[in-house]
Amino acid sequence: AVGVMAFRNDPLLWRHAWPEHQADTHKFRRGAVAVLAGGIAGVGAPRLSARAALRVGAGLATLLCEPEALPVHAARGPDALMQRAVADRGALEAFLRDRRVSAVLAGPALGLNPRADDLLRAVIADERPAVLDADALTALAGLPDGGVRLLGGRGGGTVLTPHEGEFQRLFGEEPAITAEPSKLERARKAAALSGAVIVYKGADTVVAAPDGRGAINVTGSVALATAGSGDVLAGLVAGLLAQGMPAFEASCAAVWLHGRAGEKLGMGLIADDLPEAIPPLLRDTA
Ligand code: AMP
Ligand code: MG
Repeated sequence: AVGVMAFRNDPLLWRHAWPEHQADTHKFRRGAVAVLAGGIAGVGAPRLSARAALRVGAGLATLLCEPEALPVHAARGPDALMQRAVADRGALEAFLRDRRVSAVLAGPALGLNPRADDLLRAVIADERPAVLDADALTALAGLPDGGVRLLGGRGGGTVLTPHEGEFQRLFGEEPAITAEPSKLERARKAAALSGAVIVYKGADTVVAAPDGRGAINVTGSVALATAGSGDVLAGLVAGLLAQGMPAFEASCAAVWLHGRAGEKLGMGLIADDLPEAIPPLLRDTA
């Protein structure tokens, strides 16, 4: 990686790629996100993600949950989120085929079970941009036939958003990666191995792309170390991907916005506050 530059994650890095919408656009052209959710044990996390995707400008977000969780999601309305029951891989493939989905997010409270593994395989085989977070990262690490190496053949852009524990699950058996002392270099090597953009989270989040680009985050607050914060970040990335932003720029912009929202809200914030803090920031950055 000698000679490859690392950038400060500043709006200058991604403003050129910010989504532009024509005056005659409509909700599907604004970008439609499918959020793969799980059962009744975890209805909150995917809702945070979907809400973040909408707040960053996507035109539509649909939660695809286990059938038993559908009444729970429906009872949480009225709000802008759509919800559908998706029991298995066939149902997901039908939804992706028939609806004009422009990006997929899998992970927050997806569950760890055969359904989750099946849906993950469908996302890997699909051509759309995708974000894998949380349970999807654990499930990916556990797939017997290759883990992150399965992502190399994906058509669309792929973004992985691991925290330290998830990073170790994904790349812990790659000494060339884990022995590297620099977090940015670990992220770059992980991106090269997987073919995905890596958002390696923590107090010192870095973003790396398979082509060697890397960015070091400059926004943020300890107030972001709170339940659901990562789910919001994953939703922001998915919402920007759905609007056509390339994976590296979408990831950098999401990390920047998430960190700035944390700074503005400060201690006492809960993750539910974060999506609501995004619209005023868009006016400054876009
Ligand atoms: P997760 O670990 O999935 O819940 O995601 C936590 C989110 O909060 C990530 O975006 C982290 O980068 C961010 N975060 C966690 N701890 C800190 C910290 N001490 N300072 C700044 N950001 C943090
Ligand atoms: Mg998380």
